[in-house]
Amino acid sequence: MSNFSVNETILPPVGGEPYLLTPGPLTTAASVKQSMLVDWGSWDEDFRAMTRQLRSELLAMIEDTQHQFECVPMQGSGTFVVEAMLGSLLPPASKTLVLVNGAYGQRMVKTLQRIGRDHVFIDKGDYLPPRATEVSAALAADPAISHVVVVHCETSSGILNPIEEISEAVYRAGRKLLIDSMSGFGALPLTIDGVRFEAIVSSANKCIEGVPGFGFVLVRRDALQQSEGCCHSLSLDLYDQWQQMENTGQWRYTPPTHVIAAFMEALRLHRDAGGVPARLARYTQNRDVLVSGMRALGFETLLQERWLSPVIVTFFNPADAAFEFSKFYELMKTKGYIIYPGKLTVVDSFRVGCIGQLDADVMRGVVAAAKQSLAEMGVVSARAPRAAYDERSKIPVDAWQ
Ligand SMILES: *Cc1c(COP(=O)(O)O)cnc(C)c1O
Repeated sequence: MSNFSVNETILPPVGGEPYLLTPGPLTTAASVKQSMLVDWGSWDEDFRAMTRQLRSELLAMIEDTQHQFECVPMQGSGTFVVEAMLGSLLPPASKTLVLVNGAYGQRMVKTLQRIGRDHVFIDKGDYLPPRATEVSAALAADPAISHVVVVHCETSSGILNPIEEISEAVYRAGRKLLIDSMSGFGALPLTIDGVRFEAIVSSANKCIEGVPGFGFVLVRRDALQQSEGCCHSLSLDLYDQWQQMENTGQWRYTPPTHVIAAFMEALRLHRDAGGVPARLARYTQNRDVLVSGMRALGFETLLQERWLSPVIVTFFNPADAAFEFSKFYELMKTKGYIIYPGKLTVVDSFRVGCIGQLDADVMRGVVAAAKQSLAEMGVVSARAPRAAYDERSKIPVDAWQ
């Protein structure tokens, strides 16, 4: 992990609104919200300049020093832009291996089904990481597979998938990798020298800490050039959007102008605080304060340190009969903290996000509020049920780097 000092200044939300301990939409800076108080003409040069700057700053984050990549922003929530990436960059004759270990991997399978792109998948269940050896075996067994897609941080469990070893396995076998780095980009290190990929996708309202309304694909220029006429959808066509931006500087259809203005301010804050290493340092500290505080109360995390992302953490619901998630949620909310339900299928859980305008003080407040809420519910012990420990024992603890 980074040893970069934590020096981002976090101010409390204005107007006493609760902190969002959720993985996007998330708590944004007051200056980000304030930058939406201006109306922009989408054809105007000032707005086109913002779009240009946005695209080049995002490319700088993956250290595209040789200018091999393009940044194509696209209107919509993250899922729209994942669909734009898959529909545009997977040719109609392609076959894709989807690595699934949670809801976002499943959603990509569903997308490929819906848009009619041939695919197979490896489903690891709720929280087991896909590994290089099984990817290599699947690629060796099926020469028709041309592409692999993987989720960087699977936000449904919080697991940090081993994309480095997966990328090596994919390119060793002569195939191509697309990455959903929605909840990781801007905080998890991801450069084109560090990990090989054709494209990654992320959105405005995750680790860059903007508000929701658009996403972006960073894609190798040759892959984009080859994608002309590929897309199943008119409005989600990355190639057409790219051509329009190159030729006129404008978005193809109405852009979310205020969201983009907010994103420019979020990018400025990200840059001024020290960029990706600084963001990673702050989120890592948030996670560490949260996890150690919650463990001290008796809560258990789903994942061991090895797989815990600095993005979102899954905790098991306590076995204590007095614990009830909906009540816990309400009690936490009245104390100023919005948490997130879990997504595990076998045992009940809840999640707490570490991203957004939050720092160690906020996370200490979350732990104090959890302690108080347990007391108010009459919960004696936060220990997880037996089944949770059984589940957890299935997760490998071996190092992958
Ligand atoms: C947030 C997220 C998405 C997109 O979700 P939307 O609700 O459409 O914004 C996709 N993949 C991952 C891993 C995510 O965290």
